[in-house]
Amino acid sequence: MSLQLNCPNCGKRPVEEFAHGHMPVVPDSITDPEEWEFNRAFLRDNTEGIQREAWFHTHGCRRWMVVERDTRIDRVIENSSGN
Ligand SMILES: [Zn+2]
Repeated sequence: MSLQLNCPNCGKRPVEEFAHGHMPVVPDSITDPEEWEFNRAFLRDNTEGIQREAWFHTHGCRRWMVVERDTRIDRVIENSSGN
């Protein structure tokens, strides 16, 4: 079974429908742009464990959402709309 992401608008969809990329807004939980850049630049590539990722639902509602993924087991822990 392939990885699925739980889109807040469309429900569970295969990861192939999504694009992993740069979210145009800073998540509310991180207010300092430099900290956000740091997290994105370093945690995304180097963290072993749970990391926050931004995904764009290209073949669906075309909205951004934030996903928490455990890179050790490649499993989505939880995700939200990012609002
Ligand atoms: Zn969607």
